[in-house]
Amino acid sequence: GDVVEAKIMKAKKNYAYAKLVKIVTPSAYRVDKPACPMARSCGGCQIQEMEYGRQLKFKEDKVRENLIRIGGMPKETVSEIMEPIVGMEEPFAYRNKAQFPIGTDKDGKIVAGFYAGRTHSIIPNTRCVLGVDVNERILRCVIDFMEEYGISAYCEEEHCGLVRHVLIRYGFRTKEIMVCLVINGAEISHGDVLAKRLAGIEGMTSVTLSVNRERTNVIMGKEIRLLWGQTYITDWIGDVKYQISPLSFFQVNPVQTEKLYGLALEYAQLTGEETVWDLYCGIGTISLFLARRAKQVYGVEIVPEAVVDARVNAKVNGIGNVEFFEGKAEEVLPEFGRRFEEEHGGRKCHADVVVVDPPRKGCDEGLLRTIVEMGAKRVVYVSCDPATLARDLKVLRGEGYEVERVRAVDQFPHTVHVETVVMLSHKKPDSVINVKVEFGEGEGKVPLDNIAKRAEAYKPKERVTYKMIKEYIEAKYG
Ligand code: SAH
Repeated sequence: GDVVEAKIMKAKKNYAYAKLVKIVTPSAYRVDKPACPMARSCGGCQIQEMEYGRQLKFKEDKVRENLIRIGGMPKETVSEIMEPIVGMEEPFAYRNKAQFPIGTDKDGKIVAGFYAGRTHSIIPNTRCVLGVDVNERILRCVIDFMEEYGISAYCEEEHCGLVRHVLIRYGFRTKEIMVCLVINGAEISHGDVLAKRLAGIEGMTSVTLSVNRERTNVIMGKEIRLLWGQTYITDWIGDVKYQISPLSFFQVNPVQTEKLYGLALEYAQLTGEETVWDLYCGIGTISLFLARRAKQVYGVEIVPEAVVDARVNAKVNGIGNVEFFEGKAEEVLPEFGRRFEEEHGGRKCHADVVVVDPPRKGCDEGLLRTIVEMGAKRVVYVSCDPATLARDLKVLRGEGYEVERVRAVDQFPHTVHVETVVMLSHKKPDSVINVKVEFGEGEGKVPLDNIAKRAEAYKPKERVTYKMIKEYIEAKYG
């Protein structure tokens, strides 16, 4: 709604990129003063200058338009089934995790902050309004230590210097703090001094190093080394307790996560009799949430450390009806199905409910087909990108599933990102007719002798299977 003066930076055939030069007439939805003075330049918040209520509408519209445009769903259906977005009462200081890049400014001073939008230049800012207060104290402690002991900050262009990022995690319920320094090296000199200083901060539970010597914009390195305390912190969502390691995915907004998982549970409509798959399960967060109401839950996750956490989490919570598999969901699930068939004399593996919560790129198409083959009655899709969600829903709708419920959840206030939960059910017939047929001789009865012959004519043609092709090739060409 703003009227602005803008400079076009790049013009494409159907759209262009422009840079805001001046706001001529501000929109009615523009806030007078954003909470963070860096809101415009920082790449973290894209819409902090928009009133929160309007942000929610913006996100809801985004989900709706994607479902219509990419998902091919009729507009009326979408309007009918979409439930109101779940917003936050206090949309600040909600993040339990922050990753601050460390660098050097023009005067050679160590800085921590955030990347400017679409760049890798650091805007110094240790007081992010989305994060918790203690972040600032931790960063100050790290920067002072680096200055004092002459420890260098990483430089991306030259691929030199030591400290790349500082990862901070905070348990909202337990108040436990984790600090992990990502370094371009094997160790940090005087690490014991730093550890001791950090340990003086109330709640400090875990101080680690993550070794990342690659020339990459992936933040974390694969190796974690303990500097002080333990390698994980603990936190709660609802009445489930989770152990979280530096490399494991954990939802960043605990207040909204509880609402999100509550919805996933509601949409799953469990009675206690179901076999449930939780694909892309991370540290088993959703799996454990569902396990109390299902017969058996299987989780699949690609990051080995997360799977270890998931298994520990099941044990810590005394939940016995879950099993976790490490690997790609699109490989683990069909493999499980194959093995099941072998072990059960050709009987197909069946799933009652499948929950998927993939990263932004969405689900592998082959995986969606496997879910269909497993005959899931319901699919609960938790998505962090409405575009790939809509694409995947189109595939499932083409396979006889119907989108029954959709609800957006604002996990990331002040950013353009939005989480969505969708419930799909396998379509039931629109209506049913009952026909009574009596077989045998006599009036009004259908003679049996013709039945077999007619049935033969209607029998579907045999389909060529991979197994048959293999046998044919084997027989013909050895
Ligand atoms: N459901 C979890 C995690 C969701 S994030 C939660 O709510 O906390 C997505 C997860 O998918 C991440 O943990 C990521 O490591 C994992 N992942 C990414 N690609 C995958 C794949 N192909 N197969 C299985 N897991 C994958």
